[in-house]
Amino acid sequence: MFKSLYSKFTFITIMIMIVSSILAFMFSNFYYQQELKPKNDAKNTVIATDIVAYIESSEQMDLHNYLESLANVGYQFYLHDGDSGVFFGEDFRDKSLAHRTIESVMTGEVYHGMLNLPQETFVTGFFANELKNTIGLPVEYEGQTYALFMRPDIKMLFSEMHILFAWLLAAVVLLSIVFVLISTKYMIRPITHLTEAAEKLAEGDFSIELDLTRNDEIGQLSQRFTYMATELKKLDDLKSEFIGNITHDIQSPLSNIKGYIGLLENESLSETEKKQYIDITIKEINRLSSLTKQLLTLASLEKTTDLVQISTFSLTTQLKNIIRYHQWQMDEHGIMLSFNLPEIEVAGDKALLENLFTNLITNAIKYNVEDGEIKISATQNDETTQIIVSDTGIGMDASTKTRIFERFYREDTSRTRKIEGTGLGLSIAGLIVNLHEGTLEVESEKGKGTTFTVTLPRD
Ligand code: ADP
Repeated sequence: MFKSLYSKFTFITIMIMIVSSILAFMFSNFYYQQELKPKNDAKNTVIATDIVAYIESSEQMDLHNYLESLANVGYQFYLHDGDSGVFFGEDFRDKSLAHRTIESVMTGEVYHGMLNLPQETFVTGFFANELKNTIGLPVEYEGQTYALFMRPDIKMLFSEMHILFAWLLAAVVLLSIVFVLISTKYMIRPITHLTEAAEKLAEGDFSIELDLTRNDEIGQLSQRFTYMATELKKLDDLKSEFIGNITHDIQSPLSNIKGYIGLLENESLSETEKKQYIDITIKEINRLSSLTKQLLTLASLEKTTDLVQISTFSLTTQLKNIIRYHQWQMDEHGIMLSFNLPEIEVAGDKALLENLFTNLITNAIKYNVEDGEIKISATQNDETTQIIVSDTGIGMDASTKTRIFERFYREDTSRTRKIEGTGLGLSIAGLIVNLHEGTLEVESEKGKGTTFTVTLPRD
């Protein structure tokens, strides 16, 4: 029925106002029945008694005149002598009254019609202009007994002040409804803005402007929403950058391959030229193959949050195997290797740790200098296993050092440009260390060398 929050809220508020009015009416009615009705009856009994006492004590008084003048100041009377009755003042709406009542008053009983008026009439019983709703007293006048019934004339009592209060009440109700309508609109507006922002975001537009000055729950929601949008934008930028990088890194070996294969079609090429071109082509194919392998590793590592294939194995054997596999590269560049590897066992994902150490060791070779040095050591205490790979290579400056774990980051100097690489190795290494809940620290000085320290917890 109510599609918008606005109409729902307005409806609920107005319903609350109606229900509270009903409850307030019932409460005041209860209060009237319990407290005010008996008080009103007692008050009017006192007035009636005073009137009767005055009539009976005054010797030369004209009863009809007296009652008439009282009626003029705000009372209604009914005077009955046992046979017939006379009214004074404003007409009663309902003039019925049991003859028994008149008789019992004439025999001396006080009639409490106000107190005994039925409960169903609610608080409005106070206003009931009925002969039954009176106080009845016997009065002696000129040797004869009369029954005198009296009630205040509500019309007279209902003074300007009461009219003023009635208007006040009506104005309060009307104004509240108007203000509820306006304030609801104001309160709902930020939600409407949020919905629009969510739609924009869904369409890929991250330029979201929301009112962030509010301190309430909606303000907090807007702040979280804006934060979410900026984070999403960062992710989106990263994704575009990532795709840009991959495209470039795939595109350049592919165009090299295409170019050299084109050259190979030339029949006048010498054998050495042919061999040279084929070597380059194979190198580029290897580069593509290692890039795709690294991308796959990166993608699978980013999805995993827990290690699945944990085993305990000899770290020493693993490191020695990696060293043996790369020995020829070191020999080629005259690099001196020294290692200190006591027998140590670690628990972890064997294949991933092999990837990590291969990365550190190949970097130590790649970014080394002719006749440089590499030191590899491993130590273990009760809590941790520490592996240190240090080289006397080209080193890095402080700004490079902070960025080497970013995907695709490569230092761009004439020297490093000649070195094969994708810029993915260390971001993979970082993820592997994180998965093992360890740390990977780097110490480096430009022109002096670099030291990578891997610390893995033993449990
Ligand atoms: P890649 O070696 O494929 O370029 P990495 O992620 O392994 O990518 O390394 C990122 C960058 O960090 C390298 O391009 C290089 O600039 C720097 N770097 C890594 N290891 C060393 C090292 N041992 N000495 C000097 N620079 C290094």
